[in-house]
Amino acid sequence: MSESLQTADALPEFPAEVAPERDLMSKFDGLIAERRALLDSGVTDPFAIVMEQVKSPTEAVIAGRETILLGTYNYMGMTFDPDVIQAGKDALDRFGSGTNGSRMLNGTFRDHMDVEQALRDFYGVSGAIVFSTGYMANLGMISTLAGKGEYVILDADSHASIYDGCQQGNAEIVRFRHNSVEDLDKRLGRLPAGVGKLVVLEGVYSMLGDVAPLKEMVAVAKKHGAMVLSDEAHSMGFYGPNGRGVYEAQGCEADVDFVVGTFSKSVGTVGGFCVSNHPKFEAIRLACRPYIFTASLPPSVVATAAVSIRKLMTAHAKRAQLWDNARTLHGGLKDMGFRLGTENPDSAIIAIILEDQVQAVTMWQALLDGGLYVNMARPPATPAGTFLLRCSLCAEHTPEQIQRVLAMFRAAGQAVGVIG
Ligand code: PMP
Repeated sequence: MSESLQTADALPEFPAEVAPERDLMSKFDGLIAERRALLDSGVTDPFAIVMEQVKSPTEAVIAGRETILLGTYNYMGMTFDPDVIQAGKDALDRFGSGTNGSRMLNGTFRDHMDVEQALRDFYGVSGAIVFSTGYMANLGMISTLAGKGEYVILDADSHASIYDGCQQGNAEIVRFRHNSVEDLDKRLGRLPAGVGKLVVLEGVYSMLGDVAPLKEMVAVAKKHGAMVLSDEAHSMGFYGPNGRGVYEAQGCEADVDFVVGTFSKSVGTVGGFCVSNHPKFEAIRLACRPYIFTASLPPSVVATAAVSIRKLMTAHAKRAQLWDNARTLHGGLKDMGFRLGTENPDSAIIAIILEDQVQAVTMWQALLDGGLYVNMARPPATPAGTFLLRCSLCAEHTPEQIQRVLAMFRAAGQAVGVIG
Protein backbone atom coordinates (compact mmCIF):
# COMPACT_ATOMS: atom_id res chain seq x y z
CA MET A 1 0.00 0.00 0.00
CA SER A 2 1.41 3.39 -0.86
CA GLU A 3 2.30 5.90 1.83
CA SER A 4 -0.49 8.35 0.97
CA LEU A 5 -3.25 5.73 1.36
CA GLN A 6 -2.17 4.52 4.78
CA THR A 7 -3.66 7.25 6.93
CA ALA A 8 -6.90 9.19 6.59
CA ASP A 9 -5.24 12.47 7.47
CA ALA A 10 -3.04 12.08 4.37
CA LEU A 11 -6.13 12.51 2.14
CA PRO A 12 -6.68 15.94 0.55
CA GLU A 13 -9.39 18.09 2.09
CA PHE A 14 -12.59 18.38 0.07
CA PRO A 15 -14.41 21.70 -0.15
CA ALA A 16 -17.66 21.84 1.83
CA GLU A 17 -19.70 22.30 -1.32
CA VAL A 18 -19.27 19.60 -3.93
CA ALA A 19 -20.29 20.34 -7.49
CA PRO A 20 -23.58 18.59 -8.38
CA GLU A 21 -23.04 15.32 -10.19
CA ARG A 22 -23.84 15.51 -13.87
CA ASP A 23 -25.59 12.44 -15.30
CA LEU A 24 -23.54 11.49 -18.33
CA MET A 25 -26.57 9.68 -19.72
CA SER A 26 -28.60 12.88 -19.96
CA LYS A 27 -27.05 13.66 -23.33
CA PHE A 28 -29.24 10.88 -24.78
CA ASP A 29 -32.52 12.47 -23.68
CA GLY A 30 -33.19 13.85 -27.16
CA LEU A 31 -32.68 10.46 -28.77
CA ILE A 32 -34.87 8.74 -26.17
CA ALA A 33 -37.66 11.28 -26.71
CA GLU A 34 -37.46 10.93 -30.49
CA ARG A 35 -37.68 7.15 -30.29
CA ARG A 36 -40.57 7.32 -27.81
CA ALA A 37 -42.48 9.66 -30.15
CA LEU A 38 -41.93 7.23 -33.02
CA LEU A 39 -43.18 4.24 -31.01
CA ASP A 40 -46.13 6.23 -29.66
CA SER A 41 -47.24 6.78 -33.25
CA GLY A 42 -47.95 3.03 -33.31
CA VAL A 43 -45.20 1.78 -35.61
CA THR A 44 -42.87 -1.15 -35.03
CA ASP A 45 -39.40 0.04 -34.03
CA PRO A 46 -37.46 -0.20 -37.33
CA PHE A 47 -34.22 -0.59 -35.39
CA ALA A 48 -35.37 -3.42 -33.14
CA ILE A 49 -36.50 -6.09 -35.59
CA VAL A 50 -36.10 -9.69 -34.42
CA MET A 51 -35.71 -12.56 -36.87
CA GLU A 52 -37.64 -15.24 -34.98
CA GLN A 53 -36.76 -17.85 -37.55
CA VAL A 54 -34.60 -17.67 -40.68
CA LYS A 55 -35.67 -20.19 -43.29
CA SER A 56 -33.40 -19.35 -46.21
CA PRO A 57 -31.32 -16.42 -47.45
CA THR A 58 -34.55 -14.75 -48.58
CA GLU A 59 -37.19 -15.78 -46.03
CA ALA A 60 -37.65 -15.27 -42.31
CA VAL A 61 -40.38 -15.12 -39.69
CA ILE A 62 -40.70 -11.64 -38.18
CA ALA A 63 -43.41 -10.85 -35.60
CA GLY A 64 -44.95 -14.25 -36.32
CA ARG A 65 -45.28 -13.54 -40.05
CA GLU A 66 -43.57 -15.14 -43.05
CA THR A 67 -41.48 -12.33 -44.53
CA ILE A 68 -39.39 -11.90 -47.66
CA LEU A 69 -35.96 -10.51 -46.81
CA LEU A 70 -34.91 -7.65 -49.07
CA GLY A 71 -32.75 -5.80 -46.61
CA THR A 72 -29.82 -8.07 -45.81
CA TYR A 73 -26.37 -7.95 -47.42
CA ASN A 74 -26.58 -11.64 -48.25
CA TYR A 75 -25.91 -10.81 -51.91
CA MET A 76 -24.79 -14.26 -52.99
CA GLY A 77 -27.07 -16.23 -50.67
CA MET A 78 -24.20 -18.22 -49.12
CA THR A 79 -25.61 -18.46 -45.57
CA PHE A 80 -27.52 -21.68 -46.30
CA ASP A 81 -25.05 -23.26 -48.70
CA PRO A 82 -24.72 -26.90 -47.52
CA ASP A 83 -20.93 -27.02 -48.03
CA VAL A 84 -20.47 -23.80 -46.07
CA ILE A 85 -22.61 -25.08 -43.20
CA GLN A 86 -20.83 -28.45 -43.14
CA ALA A 87 -17.42 -26.74 -42.95
CA GLY A 88 -18.60 -24.79 -39.88
CA LYS A 89 -19.91 -27.94 -38.19
CA ASP A 90 -16.69 -29.84 -38.87
CA ALA A 91 -14.58 -26.99 -37.46
CA LEU A 92 -16.75 -26.82 -34.33
CA ASP A 93 -16.25 -30.55 -33.79
CA ARG A 94 -12.50 -30.50 -34.40
CA PHE A 95 -11.42 -27.13 -32.99
CA GLY A 96 -14.11 -26.11 -30.51
CA SER A 97 -16.25 -23.00 -30.30
CA GLY A 98 -13.65 -20.23 -29.99
CA THR A 99 -9.97 -19.32 -29.96
CA ASN A 100 -9.73 -17.44 -26.66
CA GLY A 101 -6.99 -15.22 -27.92
CA SER A 102 -5.44 -12.80 -30.37
CA ARG A 103 -4.07 -13.80 -33.75
CA MET A 104 -0.69 -12.66 -32.39
CA LEU A 105 -0.71 -15.18 -29.55
CA ASN A 106 -2.78 -18.36 -29.32
CA GLY A 107 -5.58 -17.31 -31.70
CA THR A 108 -4.24 -18.49 -35.08
CA PHE A 109 -5.70 -21.90 -35.94
CA ARG A 110 -5.39 -23.93 -39.13
CA ASP A 111 -8.53 -22.38 -40.61
CA HIS A 112 -7.31 -18.80 -40.12
CA MET A 113 -4.35 -19.70 -42.31
CA ASP A 114 -6.67 -21.43 -44.76
CA VAL A 115 -9.07 -18.51 -45.13
CA GLU A 116 -6.16 -16.15 -45.76
CA GLN A 117 -4.99 -18.53 -48.50
CA ALA A 118 -8.54 -18.57 -49.93
CA LEU A 119 -8.44 -14.75 -50.04
CA ARG A 120 -5.04 -14.72 -51.77
CA ASP A 121 -6.43 -17.14 -54.36
CA PHE A 122 -9.68 -15.20 -54.79
CA TYR A 123 -7.97 -11.82 -55.24
CA GLY A 124 -4.84 -13.11 -57.01
CA VAL A 125 -2.58 -11.31 -54.52
CA SER A 126 0.43 -12.13 -52.37
CA GLY A 127 -0.94 -10.87 -49.04
CA ALA A 128 -4.12 -11.29 -46.99
CA ILE A 129 -4.83 -10.38 -43.37
CA VAL A 130 -8.09 -11.33 -41.65
CA PHE A 131 -9.63 -9.11 -38.96
CA SER A 132 -12.54 -9.84 -36.64
CA THR A 133 -14.94 -7.59 -38.63
CA GLY A 134 -14.88 -5.37 -41.70
CA TYR A 135 -15.30 -2.41 -39.37
CA MET A 136 -12.07 -3.36 -37.65
CA ALA A 137 -10.30 -3.94 -40.97
CA ASN A 138 -10.95 -0.30 -41.92
CA LEU A 139 -10.22 0.95 -38.43
CA GLY A 140 -6.94 -0.95 -38.34
CA MET A 141 -5.71 -0.40 -41.87
CA ILE A 142 -6.40 3.33 -42.04
CA SER A 143 -5.07 4.17 -38.57
CA THR A 144 -1.96 2.03 -39.09
CA LEU A 145 -1.10 3.04 -42.66
CA ALA A 146 -1.33 6.83 -42.24
CA GLY A 147 0.53 8.25 -39.27
CA LYS A 148 1.45 11.64 -37.84
CA GLY A 149 2.30 14.21 -40.51
CA GLU A 150 0.70 12.07 -43.24
CA TYR A 151 -2.70 12.43 -44.91
CA VAL A 152 -5.90 10.43 -45.36
CA ILE A 153 -8.08 11.72 -48.17
CA LEU A 154 -11.59 10.33 -48.06
CA ASP A 155 -14.94 10.64 -49.82
CA ALA A 156 -17.46 12.70 -47.81
CA ASP A 157 -19.98 9.82 -47.95
CA SER A 158 -17.54 7.23 -46.59
CA HIS A 159 -18.74 4.45 -44.32
CA ALA A 160 -18.57 5.06 -40.55
CA SER A 161 -15.73 2.55 -40.19
CA ILE A 162 -13.59 4.67 -42.55
CA TYR A 163 -14.34 7.83 -40.59
CA ASP A 164 -13.59 6.00 -37.35
CA GLY A 165 -10.30 4.71 -38.79
CA CYS A 166 -9.34 8.32 -39.45
CA GLN A 167 -10.26 9.30 -35.91
CA GLN A 168 -8.28 6.42 -34.42
CA GLY A 169 -5.11 7.46 -36.26
CA ASN A 170 -2.94 10.54 -36.09
CA ALA A 171 -2.96 11.58 -39.74
CA GLU A 172 -4.38 14.80 -41.17
CA ILE A 173 -7.84 14.22 -42.67
CA VAL A 174 -9.02 15.74 -45.94
CA ARG A 175 -12.52 15.15 -47.33
CA PHE A 176 -13.57 15.49 -50.95
CA ARG A 177 -17.07 15.80 -52.47
CA HIS A 178 -18.78 12.44 -52.96
CA ASN A 179 -17.56 10.69 -56.12
CA SER A 180 -16.08 13.94 -57.48
CA VAL A 181 -12.87 13.24 -59.43
CA GLU A 182 -12.38 16.97 -59.86
CA ASP A 183 -12.59 17.75 -56.15
CA LEU A 184 -10.25 14.86 -55.30
CA ASP A 185 -7.73 16.22 -57.79
CA LYS A 186 -8.06 19.75 -56.40
CA ARG A 187 -7.61 18.73 -52.76
CA LEU A 188 -4.67 16.42 -53.49
CA GLY A 189 -3.07 19.25 -55.43
CA ARG A 190 -3.06 21.43 -52.28
CA LEU A 191 -1.11 18.91 -50.20
CA PRO A 192 2.67 18.98 -49.90
CA ALA A 193 4.64 16.74 -52.24
CA GLY A 194 6.80 13.95 -50.85
CA VAL A 195 4.49 13.30 -47.86
CA GLY A 196 2.62 10.01 -47.32
CA LYS A 197 -0.97 10.15 -48.58
CA LEU A 198 -3.70 7.50 -48.49
CA VAL A 199 -6.79 7.96 -50.67
CA VAL A 200 -9.68 5.87 -49.31
CA LEU A 201 -12.47 4.94 -51.74
CA GLU A 202 -15.41 2.54 -51.87
CA GLY A 203 -16.42 0.52 -54.92
CA VAL A 204 -20.13 0.82 -54.13
CA TYR A 205 -21.53 3.34 -51.64
CA SER A 206 -24.03 1.47 -49.54
CA MET A 207 -26.64 4.12 -48.83
CA LEU A 208 -27.67 4.98 -52.40
CA GLY A 209 -26.01 1.99 -54.09
CA ASP A 210 -24.01 4.20 -56.43
CA VAL A 211 -20.73 3.04 -57.96
CA ALA A 212 -17.52 5.10 -57.73
CA PRO A 213 -15.62 6.22 -60.83
CA LEU A 214 -12.66 4.31 -59.43
CA LYS A 215 -10.60 4.26 -62.60
CA GLU A 216 -10.49 8.05 -62.81
CA MET A 217 -10.05 8.52 -59.07
CA VAL A 218 -7.22 6.03 -58.82
CA ALA A 219 -5.48 7.71 -61.78
CA VAL A 220 -5.76 11.09 -60.01
CA ALA A 221 -4.42 9.60 -56.76
CA LYS A 222 -1.43 8.12 -58.56
CA LYS A 223 -0.76 11.40 -60.36
CA HIS A 224 -0.34 13.02 -56.93
CA GLY A 225 1.81 10.20 -55.54
CA ALA A 226 -0.87 8.85 -53.16
CA MET A 227 -1.51 5.22 -52.23
CA VAL A 228 -5.06 3.89 -52.63
CA LEU A 229 -7.28 1.75 -50.41
CA SER A 230 -10.60 0.60 -51.84
CA ASP A 231 -13.35 -0.80 -49.62
CA GLU A 232 -15.12 -3.39 -51.76
CA ALA A 233 -17.59 -4.56 -49.10
CA HIS A 234 -20.64 -4.20 -51.37
CA SER A 235 -19.14 -5.57 -54.57
CA MET A 236 -17.28 -8.76 -53.67
CA GLY A 237 -18.51 -11.76 -55.63
CA PHE A 238 -20.35 -10.04 -58.45
CA TYR A 239 -18.28 -7.28 -60.14
CA GLY A 240 -15.44 -8.00 -62.52
CA PRO A 241 -14.46 -11.20 -64.34
CA ASN A 242 -13.36 -12.85 -61.06
CA GLY A 243 -15.91 -11.20 -58.79
CA ARG A 244 -13.21 -9.18 -57.02
CA GLY A 245 -15.10 -5.94 -57.06
CA VAL A 246 -15.56 -2.62 -58.80
CA TYR A 247 -11.81 -2.00 -58.93
CA GLU A 248 -11.47 -5.19 -61.01
CA ALA A 249 -14.51 -4.38 -63.18
CA GLN A 250 -13.03 -0.95 -63.98
CA GLY A 251 -9.56 -2.37 -64.69
CA CYS A 252 -7.54 -0.63 -61.98
CA GLU A 253 -6.22 -3.66 -60.10
CA ALA A 254 -2.59 -2.71 -60.68
CA ASP A 255 -3.00 0.71 -59.04
CA VAL A 256 -5.11 -0.12 -55.98
CA ASP A 257 -2.64 -0.80 -53.16
CA PHE A 258 -5.04 -2.19 -50.55
CA VAL A 259 -8.48 -3.77 -50.85
CA VAL A 260 -10.64 -4.01 -47.72
CA GLY A 261 -13.58 -6.37 -47.54
CA THR A 262 -15.91 -8.19 -45.21
CA PHE A 263 -17.24 -11.70 -44.65
CA SER A 264 -20.58 -10.26 -43.49
CA LYS A 265 -22.02 -9.67 -46.95
CA SER A 266 -21.38 -11.90 -49.99
CA VAL A 267 -19.32 -14.40 -47.96
CA GLY A 268 -22.24 -14.94 -45.58
CA THR A 269 -20.64 -15.02 -42.14
CA VAL A 270 -18.69 -12.45 -40.10
CA GLY A 271 -15.14 -11.10 -40.33
CA GLY A 272 -13.10 -8.57 -42.26
CA PHE A 273 -9.93 -8.53 -44.28
CA CYS A 274 -7.41 -6.56 -46.26
CA VAL A 275 -5.52 -7.91 -49.27
CA SER A 276 -2.50 -6.39 -50.98
CA ASN A 277 0.48 -7.10 -53.19
CA HIS A 278 2.72 -4.77 -51.20
CA PRO A 279 5.97 -6.63 -50.38
CA LYS A 280 5.95 -5.32 -46.79
CA PHE A 281 2.24 -5.99 -46.17
CA GLU A 282 2.86 -8.59 -43.43
CA ALA A 283 4.33 -5.83 -41.22
CA ILE A 284 0.76 -4.60 -40.61
CA ARG A 285 0.25 -7.58 -38.29
CA LEU A 286 3.02 -6.26 -36.04
CA ALA A 287 1.69 -2.73 -35.66
CA CYS A 288 -2.08 -2.75 -36.09
CA ARG A 289 -3.92 -2.38 -32.80
CA PRO A 290 -7.38 -3.61 -33.97
CA TYR A 291 -5.60 -6.75 -35.24
CA ILE A 292 -3.49 -7.33 -32.15
CA PHE A 293 -5.67 -6.35 -29.21
CA THR A 294 -8.76 -8.45 -29.84
CA ALA A 295 -9.63 -12.13 -30.03
CA SER A 296 -9.56 -13.84 -33.40
CA LEU A 297 -12.63 -15.22 -35.15
CA PRO A 298 -13.97 -18.61 -34.03
CA PRO A 299 -12.68 -21.54 -36.11
CA SER A 300 -16.19 -22.35 -37.36
CA VAL A 301 -16.51 -18.82 -38.77
CA VAL A 302 -13.23 -18.85 -40.68
CA ALA A 303 -13.87 -22.40 -41.92
CA THR A 304 -17.26 -21.36 -43.37
CA ALA A 305 -15.67 -18.24 -44.87
CA ALA A 306 -12.92 -20.22 -46.60
CA VAL A 307 -15.41 -22.59 -48.27
CA SER A 308 -17.70 -19.73 -49.22
CA ILE A 309 -14.88 -17.65 -50.78
CA ARG A 310 -13.69 -20.61 -52.85
CA LYS A 311 -17.24 -21.27 -54.07
CA LEU A 312 -17.67 -17.58 -54.97
CA MET A 313 -14.76 -17.88 -57.40
CA THR A 314 -16.95 -19.88 -59.77
CA ALA A 315 -20.44 -18.68 -58.78
CA HIS A 316 -21.26 -17.47 -62.31
CA ALA A 317 -24.91 -18.54 -62.28
CA LYS A 318 -25.51 -16.78 -58.96
CA ARG A 319 -23.92 -13.56 -60.25
CA ALA A 320 -26.13 -13.65 -63.33
CA GLN A 321 -29.26 -14.20 -61.22
CA LEU A 322 -28.33 -11.39 -58.83
CA TRP A 323 -27.91 -8.90 -61.69
CA ASP A 324 -31.12 -10.13 -63.29
CA ASN A 325 -32.94 -9.53 -60.00
CA ALA A 326 -31.41 -6.06 -59.62
CA ARG A 327 -32.46 -5.05 -63.14
CA THR A 328 -36.03 -6.33 -62.69
CA LEU A 329 -36.54 -4.64 -59.32
CA HIS A 330 -34.94 -1.35 -60.37
CA GLY A 331 -36.94 -1.21 -63.61
CA GLY A 332 -40.20 -2.14 -61.88
CA LEU A 333 -39.82 0.45 -59.09
CA LYS A 334 -38.80 3.15 -61.55
CA ASP A 335 -41.79 2.42 -63.77
CA MET A 336 -44.11 2.77 -60.76
CA GLY A 337 -42.76 6.28 -60.17
CA PHE A 338 -40.58 5.80 -57.09
CA ARG A 339 -37.61 8.16 -56.76
CA LEU A 340 -34.51 5.95 -56.72
CA GLY A 341 -30.95 6.54 -55.51
CA THR A 342 -29.45 5.59 -58.88
CA GLU A 343 -30.54 6.16 -62.46
CA ASN A 344 -29.52 2.62 -63.50
CA PRO A 345 -29.32 -0.75 -61.75
CA ASP A 346 -25.58 -0.45 -61.18
CA SER A 347 -25.45 -2.35 -57.92
CA ALA A 348 -27.30 -4.87 -55.75
CA ILE A 349 -28.55 -2.02 -53.55
CA ILE A 350 -31.60 -0.07 -54.66
CA ALA A 351 -32.52 2.90 -52.49
CA ILE A 352 -35.94 4.56 -52.54
CA ILE A 353 -35.77 8.20 -51.51
CA LEU A 354 -38.66 9.42 -49.37
CA GLU A 355 -39.67 12.85 -48.22
CA ASP A 356 -39.25 12.62 -44.49
CA GLN A 357 -39.15 10.30 -41.51
CA VAL A 358 -42.92 9.96 -41.25
CA GLN A 359 -43.27 8.91 -44.89
CA ALA A 360 -40.30 6.55 -44.64
CA VAL A 361 -41.53 4.86 -41.47
CA THR A 362 -45.14 4.59 -42.67
CA MET A 363 -44.04 3.03 -45.93
CA TRP A 364 -41.59 0.72 -44.15
CA GLN A 365 -44.34 -0.42 -41.78
CA ALA A 366 -46.82 -0.98 -44.64
CA LEU A 367 -44.26 -3.20 -46.39
CA LEU A 368 -43.51 -5.14 -43.21
CA ASP A 369 -47.22 -5.67 -42.56
CA GLY A 370 -47.49 -7.00 -46.09
CA GLY A 371 -44.62 -9.47 -45.47
CA LEU A 372 -41.56 -7.64 -46.82
CA TYR A 373 -38.50 -6.51 -44.90
CA VAL A 374 -36.35 -3.70 -46.27
CA ASN A 375 -33.82 -1.50 -44.48
CA MET A 376 -34.80 1.92 -43.31
CA ALA A 377 -31.97 4.43 -43.22
CA ARG A 378 -31.96 7.96 -41.88
CA PRO A 379 -29.49 10.72 -41.08
CA PRO A 380 -26.71 10.68 -39.94
CA ALA A 381 -26.08 7.40 -41.81
CA THR A 382 -27.55 8.77 -45.05
CA PRO A 383 -26.14 11.44 -47.38
CA ALA A 384 -27.72 14.92 -47.56
CA GLY A 385 -30.18 14.28 -44.74
CA THR A 386 -32.27 11.85 -46.82
CA PHE A 387 -34.70 9.21 -45.55
CA LEU A 388 -34.31 5.98 -47.45
CA LEU A 389 -35.83 2.55 -47.82
CA ARG A 390 -32.98 0.41 -49.00
CA CYS A 391 -33.47 -2.85 -50.85
CA SER A 392 -30.55 -5.23 -51.18
CA LEU A 393 -30.94 -8.13 -53.56
CA CYS A 394 -29.85 -11.71 -53.21
CA ALA A 395 -28.91 -14.22 -55.90
CA GLU A 396 -31.41 -16.57 -54.23
CA HIS A 397 -34.42 -14.31 -54.76
CA THR A 398 -36.56 -16.10 -57.31
CA PRO A 399 -38.18 -14.21 -60.22
CA GLU A 400 -41.52 -15.03 -58.58
CA GLN A 401 -40.40 -13.42 -55.29
CA ILE A 402 -39.28 -10.29 -57.15
CA GLN A 403 -42.73 -10.03 -58.71
CA ARG A 404 -44.34 -10.38 -55.27
CA VAL A 405 -41.96 -7.71 -53.95
CA LEU A 406 -42.99 -5.34 -56.75
CA ALA A 407 -46.67 -5.95 -56.02
CA MET A 408 -46.08 -5.17 -52.33
CA PHE A 409 -44.27 -1.95 -53.22
CA ARG A 410 -47.12 -0.89 -55.48
CA ALA A 411 -49.72 -1.55 -52.77
CA ALA A 412 -47.73 0.18 -50.00
CA GLY A 413 -46.65 3.10 -52.20
CA GLN A 414 -50.24 3.81 -53.21
CA ALA A 415 -51.61 3.37 -49.68
CA VAL A 416 -49.08 5.84 -48.28
CA GLY A 417 -49.39 8.18 -51.26
CA VAL A 418 -45.77 7.97 -52.39
CA ILE A 419 -46.85 6.94 -55.90
CA GLY A 420 -50.06 7.54 -57.79
N1 PMP B 1 -17.36 -1.08 -45.12
C1 PMP B 1 -18.56 -0.81 -45.66
C2 PMP B 1 -18.63 0.01 -46.91
C3 PMP B 1 -19.70 -1.30 -45.06
O1 PMP B 1 -20.90 -1.02 -45.57
C4 PMP B 1 -19.59 -2.07 -43.88
C5 PMP B 1 -20.80 -2.65 -43.14
N2 PMP B 1 -22.03 -2.32 -43.55
C6 PMP B 1 -18.33 -2.31 -43.36
C7 PMP B 1 -17.23 -1.80 -44.01
C8 PMP B 1 -18.15 -3.09 -42.08
O2 PMP B 1 -18.30 -4.44 -42.30
P1 PMP B 1 -18.60 -5.46 -41.12
O3 PMP B 1 -20.08 -5.69 -41.09
O4 PMP B 1 -17.84 -6.68 -41.48
O5 PMP B 1 -18.10 -4.85 -39.86
